[in-house]
Amino acid sequence: MPEVHPNTDQVIADNREYTLFSWSVQNQTHPIHMTGGKGSYFFDADGKSWLDMASQLININVGHQHPKVLQAIKDQVDKMCFAGPSFATDVRAELGKKLSEVTGLAKSFFTLGGSEANENAMKMARLYTGRDKIITRYRSYHGATMGSMSASGDPRRWPVEPGIPGIVRVFDPYMYRPPMGMTAEQWEEGSVSHIEEVIQMEGPHTIAAILVEGITGSNGILIPPDSYYPRLRALCDKYGIVLITDEVMSGFGRTGKWLATQHYGITPDIVTCAKGLTSGYMPLGAVIVNQEIADYFENHFLSGGLTYSGHPVSLAAAIANLKVYEDENLFEHTLELGKHLGERLEAMKAKYACVGDVRYIGLFSVLELVKDKATKEPLAPFNGTSPEMGKLAAYLKSKHIYAYTRFNMIWVCPPLVITKEELDAGLDAYEEALALVDQMIL
Ligand code: PLP
Repeated sequence: MPEVHPNTDQVIADNREYTLFSWSVQNQTHPIHMTGGKGSYFFDADGKSWLDMASQLININVGHQHPKVLQAIKDQVDKMCFAGPSFATDVRAELGKKLSEVTGLAKSFFTLGGSEANENAMKMARLYTGRDKIITRYRSYHGATMGSMSASGDPRRWPVEPGIPGIVRVFDPYMYRPPMGMTAEQWEEGSVSHIEEVIQMEGPHTIAAILVEGITGSNGILIPPDSYYPRLRALCDKYGIVLITDEVMSGFGRTGKWLATQHYGITPDIVTCAKGLTSGYMPLGAVIVNQEIADYFENHFLSGGLTYSGHPVSLAAAIANLKVYEDENLFEHTLELGKHLGERLEAMKAKYACVGDVRYIGLFSVLELVKDKATKEPLAPFNGTSPEMGKLAAYLKSKHIYAYTRFNMIWVCPPLVITKEELDAGLDAYEEALALVDQMIL
């Protein structure tokens, strides 16, 4: 249970004095002093429980402090804390086998997180094809290391521009706001055919890979139409391009399946993952490759790896975490609860003037907010904020509801263990906040 911390002001002051916070202008950060958690809630130093409607960074899929994952970590620590990345270990064998089983791919290369997984996926695709360009999309995020940040499309890449060479960007399957004045119907066709035009213009023999998020996460849960992935798969096959899907956020149960692309019936050539692989209990990512790419590295040098790659404690956490998904039927729960979430989101769209669009699959969802439904004018500008978005966020914070907001969007991505009652309580608070926004815009 949450307890009041005896010295929270000093702890926050020392955090600010001696450490740098990520993605922040330091003098504008107001960190919550977090002290623990349980299930769908985390605790703060004032002894308050927060309902975690963002699963922290959309990663704590099995909820906070799951006893089975904690136990597996403790057991592995007692047994063997470290083995270098070129040693064989029990946990490496067990997790590798499991990942091949659930993805239908051949072999896993372990990393410390999602950014590094994408770095290695791009590197492997370049080595395997002997080509150098990577096609990515504008509304994408692939990580904060140099290569992955350069490969990202969203404004978080701007500070590292010009970034690594060879990145070519295309438009996204953003059906609410198709580019170039197209209708959603036109863009369903255009979203893949314009990628083929870009391939032609760049020279098909120069394109190593197309790197896309399984379903775009932090740029607004952009769910491609049914035809998108089969057509993208065919395009990659036609030109010998490696299809890499970044399932760091959308994978491992978030959409109710192991991989978001499993909703579309296609298998990528490489999958990258992290977050839901361990539910954040230990740092781990993976690059999972198909048989052809695995075969290539049978007799070609795989130039990559870090001191902590395949860390046994992280692997043990992942094994236990994946077992929790299965033992507790969490994917079925996610799909079931996702239907209820979808109904509530649709009802919000019908009821509130500020809700322009809702997009949802499993427990991966967003509300896109507007000033005017007819014109779709965003409630906050791209890469900016607004008094209305500030009000929404402040209201939820005052109710101890932890939500992820960015630009004109607010996400609903709770831990997969959340109950219907907890989810409804969170959504009720969202509705109160939306009513306040409506008062501001009407
Ligand atoms: N790819 C996607 C789709 C992500 O959402 C993220 C992080 O949010 C990353 C990659 C980067 O992962 P990490 O922060 O583990 O390096």
